Amino acid sequence: MMLNAADNPAETAAILTGLIRDVPDFPKPGILFKDITPLLESPDGFRTCIAALGERVRAHGVTALVAIESRGFIFGAPLATHLGLPLIVVRKPGKLPRRTESVSYQLEYGEDRLEVHADAIVAGSRYAIIDDVLATGGTAEAVATLIARLGGIVACAAFPIELAFLSGRARLSAPVESLVVFR
Ligand code: AMP
Repeated sequence: MMLNAADNPAETAAILTGLIRDVPDFPKPGILFKDITPLLESPDGFRTCIAALGERVRAHGVTALVAIESRGFIFGAPLATHLGLPLIVVRKPGKLPRRTESVSYQLEYGEDRLEVHADAIVAGSRYAIIDDVLATGGTAEAVATLIARLGGIVACAAFPIELAFLSGRARLSAPVESLVVFR
């Protein structure tokens, strides 16, 4: 079946919802994990997802995408080629070879850190943050801080999946785009 639903948000959401598997109590009790592997295993579904995300991101007139390790890379890479935009990677500590800017952020237990090449973000340019799921928003907020610290403008943050009951979008001052919203 060919899926050409990128221009129809409700149809896109229905297709993607059917390709996201709920896994209760993973990785720990009480978490309902949104498993995206069925979506990745569906060439038509994945293409629809990238095309629809592309439409949403295009509207914000961005200069480059900033994808977050590691599941953000899965969506950021095809989206960058689809839109013909540079892909900037935000990585876990110690992975990037040149001079980096880093940001620490709070996890439920403890702290984590993310890094970007300091020369990858150009002051005054507009960026779209890309990740797989917007949950509490802590990770995307940290990346927004990183971009802003280097003088970049966060034009939007885009996710295939948003867990609206965790209110992640309230932590971001940039517009949020998501294709499937779980309430
Ligand atoms: P957060 O910082 O809370 O917005 O979540 C950051 C990352 O955690 C996202 O990039 C997701 O990869 C992952 N994540 C959080 N909650 C879930 C969930 N319920 N299902 C799948 N992934 C999740």
